Amino acid sequence: MTDARSEAARLWNKMVKLHLYFRKRNKKWPTQAQFEKHFARKFRLHSQTIQALIEKFFANIETTRVNRANGNKKARYPYKEKTYFNPVWKGQHIKQQLNYIVLPMGIDPHTRKRNLGISIRLPKDIPNGKIVQAELAFGKLLLTIQNEIEIEKPKVEKVAATDLGSIHLGVVTDGTNSLAVVGRGLRSINQGKAKALAELSAVQSKCEKYSRCWKKLQATKRKILRKTDNQTYNLLHQAANEIVGYCEEKQVSKLVVGDITEINRNKKKKSSRRLNQEMGLLSLGVFVGYLEYKLAAIGIELESYSESYTTKTCPACGHKHKPKGRQYRCPKCGFTGVRDEVGAINLLNKFLNKGEIKPQFLVPKGNVKYLRPLKLKRFAKRSSPTDTGQPSIHVVCADG
Ligand SMILES: [Zn+2]
Repeated sequence: MTDARSEAARLWNKMVKLHLYFRKRNKKWPTQAQFEKHFARKFRLHSQTIQALIEKFFANIETTRVNRANGNKKARYPYKEKTYFNPVWKGQHIKQQLNYIVLPMGIDPHTRKRNLGISIRLPKDIPNGKIVQAELAFGKLLLTIQNEIEIEKPKVEKVAATDLGSIHLGVVTDGTNSLAVVGRGLRSINQGKAKALAELSAVQSKCEKYSRCWKKLQATKRKILRKTDNQTYNLLHQAANEIVGYCEEKQVSKLVVGDITEINRNKKKKSSRRLNQEMGLLSLGVFVGYLEYKLAAIGIELESYSESYTTKTCPACGHKHKPKGRQYRCPKCGFTGVRDEVGAINLLNKFLNKGEIKPQFLVPKGNVKYLRPLKLKRFAKRSSPTDTGQPSIHVVCADG
C-alpha cells in the first residue's frame, strides 16, 4: 500500500516537473493526451490509475489557470514535491470478491509481470450501491459509492388510440389530432394477388397435373405469392412506423388498440368474404405485432382493449347506429364525422372512462391527416408462354 502511494507520488512529481519545464520556457503547454501517451506503462500502477492521476493533474492545472486569469496571482500550479500521493481506481477495474475489494496494480514496466493487486477487507456496514471510485489515502481507503435510485415514471400518462380498419389501415388519435394511415395499397396487393392466382389456376386446370406446363404455372404462382407477401410486410412496416412516429411526436405513453381476437370472433358470425380479402386478419395480427415491438423500443406501451360499439356509438349524443359508408351520420343529433376517426376517438373515450363511451367527452373535429405509407408501383407480371400454345396471361395489380 505504501509502495502504491509512493509510486503515485513519483508519477505526480514527474508531471509537476515536466509541466513546469514547458511553462518556464514559454512553450506550448502539453495536452492531457500527450501526457497520457508519455507516462503510459512507466509506473508500477494500473493503466487506469495512471490515467486517473493525469486527469486529476490537468483538472488542477485548469483550475489554477482560470484563477490566475481572474486576477488571483497567488494561485500556484502544482509545485510541491510529494513523498506519497493517493492513487485512484475507477469504475470497472475495481473488483469486489466477497467482502474484499481488490485494487489491481497493473503490469511491472521492467519485468513485464503482473503486479500483485491490493486487497482490502470491506466493513460489514458498507452502504448499498456500486463502488465507482477508490482512493488510497494514508491509513485509509476512500470509496465513492453510487446508488442508483429508480426515477418513478410520471403518473400522468398520455393515451392515444387506434382503430384498425380496411380502408384506412389505422387511424390513430390523441383526441385532438388524428392521423390516418391509408391502407388502400394493401387492398390492391391482396386483390391483385387473388386475381392473378385465380387466372393462373384457370390456365393450370387445362394442363395435366404435374406436367411440365403445370409445374411452370405452379412456380409462377409461388413467385407471385412471395412477391405479394414481401410487398405486404413492407407496407405494414411502413404504416407501423408512421403510427409510431405519431405517438413519439405527441409524447404518448400508451397506445390502445382494438382487441383483434374480438374482431375475429365477430367476423365468424357474419363472415364477409370481401372484407377478409381486403384486410386479412393475419396481416392485422402481424401489424399489431410490429406496432408493439416498435413502440416498446421507444418506451411506449401497447394495450389491446375491447372495441365493441366504438364504431356504432355517436360521440356527441351516445345514440347507437350502424354507419353506412365512410362517413358517420347520426340520425338523432345530426353529428357527422369520418367513420374511422369516430371509431378511434370512441375507443380512446371508452378506455379513459373504463368501458363507457361518454357522450360529449371527446367529439371528433375532423382534424385527420391522411398518409399513404408507400407509393405502390403497379406491377405487371407476365408468365412465360407455355409450350402447349396456351394464351399468355397478363397479371396486373390494379390500384384501389
Ligand atoms: Zn348523435
